[in-house]
Amino acid sequence: MTEKISRFLAERVPETPCLVVDLDVIAENYETLRHYLPVATIYYAVKANPAPEVVRMLADMGSSFDVASPGEIQLCLDMGIPGERVSFGNTIKKQRDIAWAFERGVDLFAFDSEQELRKIAQSAPGARVFCRILMECEGAEWPLSRKFGCEVEMARDLMLMARDLGLDPYGLSFHVGSQQTNLAQWDIAVGRTAMLFTELNEAGIELKMINLGGGFPARYRSEVASIDTYADAVMHAMTKHFGNRLPLMIIEPGRSMVGDAGILQSEVVLISRKGYDDDKRWVYLDVGKFGGLAETMDEAIKYRIRTSHDGAAVGPVVLAGPTCDSADILYEKAGYEMPLDLAVGDKVEILSTGAYTTTYSAVNFNGLPPLKAYYI
Ligand SMILES: *Cc1c(COP(=O)(O)O)cnc(C)c1O
Repeated sequence: MTEKISRFLAERVPETPCLVVDLDVIAENYETLRHYLPVATIYYAVKANPAPEVVRMLADMGSSFDVASPGEIQLCLDMGIPGERVSFGNTIKKQRDIAWAFERGVDLFAFDSEQELRKIAQSAPGARVFCRILMECEGAEWPLSRKFGCEVEMARDLMLMARDLGLDPYGLSFHVGSQQTNLAQWDIAVGRTAMLFTELNEAGIELKMINLGGGFPARYRSEVASIDTYADAVMHAMTKHFGNRLPLMIIEPGRSMVGDAGILQSEVVLISRKGYDDDKRWVYLDVGKFGGLAETMDEAIKYRIRTSHDGAAVGPVVLAGPTCDSADILYEKAGYEMPLDLAVGDKVEILSTGAYTTTYSAVNFNGLPPLKAYYI
């Protein structure tokens, strides 16, 4: 927890649950990534945290933006970000949304299928397009799986088709999976992409850009390598497969940019046991899966949790949210332990919650308001 956040919590004593995001940490993350990957252009993945404070600050720092919908495009435009600094990276777009974006100066579109390509050709004639390659996402704690991308063979044909449809076959993209802990995945992905660059070159299409997506980590329960180690892996893969003829590089960090900047403060509502012999306590917090912690689905993202009793003896717990839905359990199998003297009313801090929380929070389930957030 940063000094700024702990002072804010101590002085303001906000109602819980609430997220407090330290903008300085985001600024620092942006600068660090620029420092270690100076040849790449950063397109912040807006979906990770679309707070106007975050988007405005990153825009002022020179970032470009990866967006998924007209709503996110409008947010960027409202901040004075020109369409040319926006990439419509969602491979699943309504045709009218493509037209809407194109009218507003957005000129870079992702696709991974023939139908999507035809939509773009019709509604954004002459636009720059990039095809997303399918990745296995092994080693990712939040895999994006088979939902996105197509196989290399198909990508090749689609890029040729893009040219024939009058579009600018600009480049290729991939996403190795979010919170990717296996650095070798970038080597596999870049290798696959570079081969396709060569093949298309032989077919008369000179691609200009490789979009390496996201996947850089935030710090959850397990240790992760530092961002310079990730940057090294990326650059090593690039020079290994492209030699000294590097294409333009785009990266789209979301989680690694904002995750560690946020602390979610919560309160213990109830501590109980299910039977007299049960050695596991059930600890119910005032925030759960429907209050913003959706990435605890299948216990995928394992947040670090702090209490004011840390250092005291601990025992096993099931951690759950406050709603009347039995799916609202955060951790049952992941082996979480909490202090034995934890009591109802105690504050609990959930760390690295700056990414993928506020927007996942339900609007009014069980009459609970959406997660309140402060950007300081
Ligand atoms: C979500 C997303 C990202 C961000 O991924 P992180 O792992 O959070 O950095 C980047 N690019 C695209 C296309 C995405 O959908």
